[in-house]
Amino acid sequence: MAAHPGALGVPALKKLAPYQPGKPIAELERELGISNIIKLASNENAWGPSPAVLQALTAALPDIWLYPDGSCHDLKQALSTRLGVELDCLTLGNGSNDLLVLLAEAFLSPTSNALYSQYGFAYYPLVTLATGAEAREIPALSLDSAMPLGHDLAAMCAAVDANTRLIFIANPNNPTGTWVSPDELLAFIDGVPDTALVVLDEAYLEYGRLMGAQDAVSWVKERPNLVLLRTFSKAYALAGLRVGYAISHPEVANALNRLRPAFNVNSLAQVAATAAFQDPAYLNRVMQQSVHEVRRLQQGLADLKLRTIPTAANFVLTHFGSGASRIYERLLQGGLIVRPVGGYGLPEYLRISIGKPADNDRLLQQLARSLSL
Ligand SMILES: *Cc1c(COP(=O)(O)O)cnc(C)c1O
Repeated sequence: MAAHPGALGVPALKKLAPYQPGKPIAELERELGISNIIKLASNENAWGPSPAVLQALTAALPDIWLYPDGSCHDLKQALSTRLGVELDCLTLGNGSNDLLVLLAEAFLSPTSNALYSQYGFAYYPLVTLATGAEAREIPALSLDSAMPLGHDLAAMCAAVDANTRLIFIANPNNPTGTWVSPDELLAFIDGVPDTALVVLDEAYLEYGRLMGAQDAVSWVKERPNLVLLRTFSKAYALAGLRVGYAISHPEVANALNRLRPAFNVNSLAQVAATAAFQDPAYLNRVMQQSVHEVRRLQQGLADLKLRTIPTAANFVLTHFGSGASRIYERLLQGGLIVRPVGGYGLPEYLRISIGKPADNDRLLQQLARSLSL
């Protein structure tokens, strides 16, 4: 028997570190023995899902002894109808992270590479390195540019070579909140050689649409090398159920479907996502309130003399300087969880997700106190 069975793992393991999620509420409760904790750390939607979702879930509960519909028929049908895309362009995933893994497995190998921006979403290097492919991080725009810490599309374009298979772009991006202008994005996509796929991660699209970011769905039909990723975890408030989807050329969807475990999206997730997607009025109402709160939070942070990075998403990347981790700890002591981003190379910043109005009030009050200590 091997004394160190871990050493039997594939070489890529040495390059990987586990993804570090935001601190769960229950964990802080255990640590501090306090209640009334607010989590503004994982860009979840505190308004929660539409009441129609809870109703649909209740109705579906007795059927959980059955395997889910592996083809996700009802959800795909709803998406296809409302988005105006063919059924064979859709792939469902256990969250969009699942689709990132499938894309990497389908298109990367030890002889290819994938590109993403500095301060891009942490899953891009993870899924890339797991395949043995080269991960190319392209320096972001400088702090004094028009979109500080944003994607440098010109530099990304210049870094593409014949072995580049995937280019990951989050628009808006996490953890920065930055976005790329529609014109520049389209020019970038059209300039990429057809040996590479552009994976446009629109996890925050529903917020971004209201704040200047492009909805790229109409671009997919004409562009076989464009793949869009969407999720029900953020605006639709279903992070705990894990559903996301890709919109792509049918041949890309076919490739993903070959690798996809048949039951990767569970039955309750399918039911909830379908109901959520079919209640656009609720979504719109929550998005309006959310954007209002983002603007209010930005103003509140500015009033505290804190620099923030421009955002088109439901969070604000905020500069605290060398005291960032001290402020993080002080907020935790007061029952408020925000997100340190040292792992992204941004140790002087904290990422603050927006909450409901009372949550944001409490955050701003506690911040004012923490800053004056
Ligand atoms: C939150 C997030 C996702 C969504 O992940 P799920 O697996 O769908 O929960 C995808 N991309 C980015 C950039 C995100 O911030």
